[in-house]
Amino acid sequence: MVYEVIIDISSSQTDKIYDYSADFEIPCGSRVLVPFGKRKIQGFVIGKKEESSYQTKNVIKIMDDKPLISMEMLSLAKFLSKERNLRLIDILRLCIPSKIRGGKIGELKKAFITLKDEKLIEKIPKRATAQRAIAELLKEKGEYESVLNKMFSPQSVKSLIEKGIAEREYIRQLRTPYKNIEGKKTSLTLNTAQKNAIEKIMESEGEYLIHGVTGSGKTEIYMRVIEEDLKRGRTAIMLVPEISLTPQMLSLFRARFGDMVGLLHSGLSDGERFDEWQRLFYGEAKVVLGARSAIFAPLTNLGVIIIDEEHDTSYISESNPRYFTHEIARFRRQYNNARLIFGSATPSLETYKRAKEGEYKLITLKDRVNQRSLPEMQIVDMRKEIRQGNMSIFSNALLKELNETISQGNQAMLFINRRGFASFIRCRKCGYIPKCTDCEVSLTFHKDDNRLKCHYCGKQFYNIDECPKCGFKHLKEGRIGTQKVVEELQKLFPDIQIARMDNDTVKGKNSHMDILRSFAQGKAQVLVGTQMIVKGHDFKDVTLVGILDADLSLYFPDYRSNEKTFQLITQVAGRAGREKKQGRVIMQTYNPHHYVFRFAKIYDYYGFYDKESNVRELTNFPPYSVIIRILITSEDKQKALTATRQGYDKIRHLKSQNNDIIIRAQAMKAPIKRMMNKYRFQIVVWIDLQKENEVLSKIYSEIRKIENRNVSCFIEINPTQMM
Ligand code: ADP
Ligand code: ZN
Repeated sequence: MVYEVIIDISSSQTDKIYDYSADFEIPCGSRVLVPFGKRKIQGFVIGKKEESSYQTKNVIKIMDDKPLISMEMLSLAKFLSKERNLRLIDILRLCIPSKIRGGKIGELKKAFITLKDEKLIEKIPKRATAQRAIAELLKEKGEYESVLNKMFSPQSVKSLIEKGIAEREYIRQLRTPYKNIEGKKTSLTLNTAQKNAIEKIMESEGEYLIHGVTGSGKTEIYMRVIEEDLKRGRTAIMLVPEISLTPQMLSLFRARFGDMVGLLHSGLSDGERFDEWQRLFYGEAKVVLGARSAIFAPLTNLGVIIIDEEHDTSYISESNPRYFTHEIARFRRQYNNARLIFGSATPSLETYKRAKEGEYKLITLKDRVNQRSLPEMQIVDMRKEIRQGNMSIFSNALLKELNETISQGNQAMLFINRRGFASFIRCRKCGYIPKCTDCEVSLTFHKDDNRLKCHYCGKQFYNIDECPKCGFKHLKEGRIGTQKVVEELQKLFPDIQIARMDNDTVKGKNSHMDILRSFAQGKAQVLVGTQMIVKGHDFKDVTLVGILDADLSLYFPDYRSNEKTFQLITQVAGRAGREKKQGRVIMQTYNPHHYVFRFAKIYDYYGFYDKESNVRELTNFPPYSVIIRILITSEDKQKALTATRQGYDKIRHLKSQNNDIIIRAQAMKAPIKRMMNKYRFQIVVWIDLQKENEVLSKIYSEIRKIENRNVSCFIEINPTQMM
């Protein structure tokens, strides 16, 4: 038999698939050792056939007793390779932890010593007191060799074994991540909305969207559905955006499912990841809880896949291989005839559109559990503060609320958004933000040529040093960080404790948990933080949430910046008043009349959805089109430029043949023109939604033609933060 083997090396840009022969049977998905040039190298069997068109070498051996790649994951890899232009080997690598592939890590086993027979104790010479003592100890229940070696001399233990009085057995030691997080069993009586949701979901396999306000009890629904599926002998995948920030979820799951839960995310040590993966692979654990990459978990017979906070950008892998977790979840759901549940208080436009069109079954939870109300939001116009002479980062309203909150012994969270690389322009007097006239996307300021640019279509505008709306002359924007906020706040409230959480303060493995825990214990009155504080614990004493500059995320050169801003505000606001106390939110902005804030203030998702959909449809942005960005890079500027021109010509040619499918195409320098010694150009193509796959494969094959040794191309679908 001839086997098609994909070689596990990373050096090349294309998959290396070769034929090898073997006179023994090899199941597809097996990891094998094969000769490759002068080396022996690992590969995966991805297919078999009767004969090869060339002289083949022989497979040396099969490396595992059970194929590491299931048929399901193999077809997933083939699907992504064909439809999304990803390398097979990159997908297979996501399926198996790197240290397993490299063989660099294995099971942790410890020697356990037991007595062969009690009567043998008599045979130990009287003067060998140590050996006797050990034997007496072993008589009870046995002990680990490492423990004995600490109590006695290793030589004594060894001679007992050599004499055949005691014996050694190796026992697997599980490296359990976050061992200290245990769950407390809770039993909740479901409310009617939860009951109805579960009933509807269990009725039939399919794809669901649970649109439920923050605190509507979605987690309990997820867990009950998983319970049902486990009873039916099936397995489950539960994804959350940042599992390392939500220890609460882990403790809930451990309480409910015990050892059945396996944890997979990037924060685990190699040993922990190895063990958790093995437990899932061999069926010892049947529920995986994890971040994005856990969608590749080695579970078979999936009953349900749940994607919580489905709108979160972390579900899109931005680096190679660039994949969409939703798409993979849909593939696996279909393959297993399982259930797929997306959950969010603020579903992405794309997901909600699908639900509206009937592609997903929609379940709506309008109320928080136990009739707790959503916190009241107040919009503060920062332009007015400036006019009244308050130049500080805190409005008078926020200071007043902070004062009250602290004096009542409650807690506050102050949120400052700090993402993205782009510099932006804003008029601090009237709130004006320059936007692309074609795309409605915020323009980015490029210092080197003093221009404002649209990162999508490349259109350039002269920089302005005077606001075109109100004539104000100070447009440059300094960005404030969390540290600055803490400093200013401490000056105003010298006696309080302030905790800070951002990328700089959470370097260590557990430090974010430590910060959250100490805040939960009331050791600080105010927590200042970035996106990181949006998720995380239910803090029962938080009654005030302050959003210091609600506009910041509006400036991202991302067509979804309005959507992201709406989602962020809703999520941050959802942190206040989660338990018995009523919460309050102060939202500071220079654009108080912007529709994002108007709708967010009254938690009007539908109003926002309609308005934003309208804008996207008019400007031809997703989910009403598909945008392809082809990033072309080379160390040689001329070669990159030539390839870009060639690619652009090819795409224009395609457009002339498919005028109704390709809406528009632009070639330009990438927003970051040079990075890691490479020149960067890009081609951006807008495609009609209906014919996406058809034209995509044509674009892939055209672009492959311009790639060569000196020039590489990276294709993204619906790029978000373009750099
Ligand atoms: P969501 O994920 O929808 O934002 P959660 O699942 O975190 O909401 O639930 C919010 C809070 O309500 C949690 O503290 C949870 O324990 C509690 N809760 C959920 N369901 C019920 C119920 N049926 N009765 C009482 N409390 C509930
Ligand atoms: Zn534009």
